[in-house]
Formats: sequence, C-alpha cells, structure tokens
Amino acid sequence: MKNTTSDIKHAASLLKSGELVAFPTETVYGLGGNALSDDAVAEIYAVKERPQFNPLIVHVRSIEDANHHAHCNTTARMLAHHFWPGPLTLVLLRRPECELSYLVSAGMDTVAVRVPAHPMAQALLHEAGIPIAAPSANRSGRISPTEASHVQEELGGRLAMILDGGPCHVGIESTVVDVTGETPIILRPGSISAKQIGDVLHCKIPLLPNLSSSSMRSPGQLASHYAPSHPVRLNATHAAADEALLAFGEHVPTGAAYTLNISKHGNLQEAAANLFRMLRALDTKDVRCIAVMPIPEDADTHALGIAINDRLKRAATPDTI
Ligand code: AMP
Ligand code: MG
Repeated sequence: MKNTTSDIKHAASLLKSGELVAFPTETVYGLGGNALSDDAVAEIYAVKERPQFNPLIVHVRSIEDANHHAHCNTTARMLAHHFWPGPLTLVLLRRPECELSYLVSAGMDTVAVRVPAHPMAQALLHEAGIPIAAPSANRSGRISPTEASHVQEELGGRLAMILDGGPCHVGIESTVVDVTGETPIILRPGSISAKQIGDVLHCKIPLLPNLSSSSMRSPGQLASHYAPSHPVRLNATHAAADEALLAFGEHVPTGAAYTLNISKHGNLQEAAANLFRMLRALDTKDVRCIAVMPIPEDADTHALGIAINDRLKRAATPDTI
C-alpha cells in the first residue's frame, strides 16, 4: 500500500537520526541515508555489501542545493535546468568546504548529484532538509528494485523503513554524466540519451566512451552487475524447454518453460519500466538459464535500447570478483 504524508514525515525523522530508509524515485528504489553522516553512509555500504570504491549518488532538492556542495559549472547548469528534476545524475567537483561525507565520493574529489522527480522522493527531501545518499536498494551487483516488495525481499530486515510509492515509471537507473572536464562524458547510459544531452549543450556527445576509461571514471560500472542468479543468454531467437524467456515485441519464439514479455508492442519505454521486475520474476523459476530476445538500439531512434542493452550485457557477464 502506498505511504502517506505522515509516513514521509516519519521517514524523514528516521533519516535525520542516522537510520536508513528505502524510498521510490522515478528510476528505481533508493537506499537512503544522511549524506552528511559518515556513519549513515558506511551503513549503506554495509547493507548493500558494496565495494567501498563504488561511490554513491547524492539526492538533493534543487540546483542551488547541488551548487552548495559542488561546483555547478555552465555545462552542469544547462543540463540541470533542462533535465532536473529527472533521471539525470551529474558528476561535479566537490567544493573545498563541502560537508558531504567523503564516503559518498569513495575518496575522489568529485560527487554525483541528482534531483529526483518522484513526488515521494521530493517530499522526503523537503521534509528531511538534508542531502540523501541513495544507491539502488539492492545488494551490490544484483538486480535493481522497481517495486517496494523487491526491497522488502532483499533488504527488508536491515532497514528502518521502506516507503512504498508503487512501481517506478522509468525502471532503469539515471543517466550519469561527468561534467568536470572540457567535454561531458556519459559514464552510464540511461533514459536521457546522448543526443538529448548534446541537443541541450549544442554539441555532439560521444555515444559511449571507451569502456576502460568509463569504468575508471565511474567505478560503479563493473562488467558484472544487475545479475540474476541464473545465467543469462542474450540475443535469443529461439528458446529451449529448460529456459525462461524474456521476450520483446510481437514475434516471440515458443518452447520456453516460462515467458514474460517486457513490451509486446516493441515500446522501449514500457520495456525499461518492466525490465528489472520481469528479470526478477523469471529468476525465481527452476530453469537452466534466462534467454533474452534482442532489443533494438540505435542512437537516434532507439536510444533507450542502448541503456537497456547496457544493463542486459552486465546481467549476462559472469561475476568474476
Ligand atoms: P547507483 O548507486 O547504483 O545508483 O550507481 C551510481 C552510479 O554512479 C555508479 O555507476 C557510480 O560509479 C556512479 N558514480 C557515483 N558517484 C560518482 C563519482 N563521484 N564519479 C564517477 N561516478 C560516480
Ligand atoms: Mg545500483
């Protein structure tokens, strides 16, 4: 059941006293803690079992808040004015007097900041009046949660509270852009495409940076991520009787033990919103592997496909750590 204003007030007071609260955003559910408190941020890492070198996104109310903690240069301001509140994260240089816990930056001199659009996330930020560090509310490396029940299943016992705002509309994580250098770099593709960003800045943004430099600059971009417990087979054009099939579009091969279709009409927005929920559902089945049909990606016409395929490739990469 969705939470009410008094629940949000309670969640805000828990956050202020250093507890962790999961809350909905338009992308996925976040695992929130007071970004000013080393203890609270350390607890986020502990609950997620996240490697310390993977920095966290700090959620704030406004551009002014972001600028209070970090340098919002012209590029950052143009993007923030256009896309905030919304699914865009900006990597900025910390100000020398920045009071955010260094743990959110994982020891770097940068900090990733976002103003979320979800009304419950906004209400929580306003009520708490503190910056909220919030990675996705799943155990490190696993599938991101897009419903409150996913958080409950995975982390329920370890959180002070889970705010329920229903299913997330976007369904995949924010686009992360590093704007600290001369040219903006997309560190993580998301629903806001390179073309949309380039249109606002009147320049061409390289679609995907070469992987090694992007993974160095965004330590969270591990090759294996978003991983179900079953192996994942990509670009499946047929399905075996001992496989679960994650389908896309009208023409679906028959023969799989279970099939879920992320968008029967081939709509990428619907596919993104359904992706993690359906991957989770198929992962509970007793099958040999999860086969995934091809998802179209094209910078101009199918930009969201790039973000979806990014997540699927990581889901298919065996965990070698
Ligand atoms: P998540 O916490 O799951 O939403 O993921 C956050 C993403 O943002 C990860 O890919 C991080 O590596 C990336 N990120 C967060 N902070 C920084 C930063 N200061 N510099 C570069 N990437 C960052
Ligand atoms: Mg995550």
